[in-house]
Amino acid sequence: MQIQYKPKRNLLQTILHSEIMQGMAFTLKQLFAKPITRQYPQEKPEIKLGFRGQHALVRDQETGTSKCVACMRCVTVCPSRCIHIRFHEDEERGCRVVDSYDIEALRCVYCGFCEEVCPVNALVLTEIFEYAAYNRESIFFDQERLLANWDAFADMKGSAINGYINPFWRPRGIPERELTAAKRLDVPDEWTIEGQVVGNLVKRDQ
Ligand code: SF4
Ligand code: SF4
Repeated sequence: MQIQYKPKRNLLQTILHSEIMQGMAFTLKQLFAKPITRQYPQEKPEIKLGFRGQHALVRDQETGTSKCVACMRCVTVCPSRCIHIRFHEDEERGCRVVDSYDIEALRCVYCGFCEEVCPVNALVLTEIFEYAAYNRESIFFDQERLLANWDAFADMKGSAINGYINPFWRPRGIPERELTAAKRLDVPDEWTIEGQVVGNLVKRDQ
């Protein structure tokens, strides 16, 4: 088999150095083309629906703390095993009480499974992506830090945080009757099949 690395040139192409002319023409064309480089950090990227950023525990406006009921679904589903929860049973109230809730965010693969399975929408991957740090401790989120992350996200969203719905809180393709009450959320109009990043079947069986 003969391997030809570049087409053979004829005499005229050799004399005129046609490849150089082609290269110069391309360079000249790019001088007048619209720039595609984003001037980050002055120019922020547009956050798309279903973006998975910094972890947060939603602060319940009534209790002032997390909505987590220690069902352990997020711990079970997490492929990275980076969520750690300790809890005790409150016999009097007949419920579980969270003692500690930690996420080792450096091990997270941002799959979103944890927020999708959470029956009470206590957990969210926010739109915050700028949280690089110089040490591992800063990317280890305990419950206090996760609630503070939510507060920062709420500040960032302003009034839009009221009625905020994360696409992962409404699992795709699951009939409403099979969802917990908290997950029976109205799908915003902009979540069309084309626009719905998380799942194409989100509007099925509504
Ligand atoms: S996004 Fe995925 S990997 Fe990260 S904490 Fe949630 S379930 Fe685990
Ligand atoms: S799935 Fe939700 S309610 Fe259950 S333990 Fe995780 S954060 Fe808490």
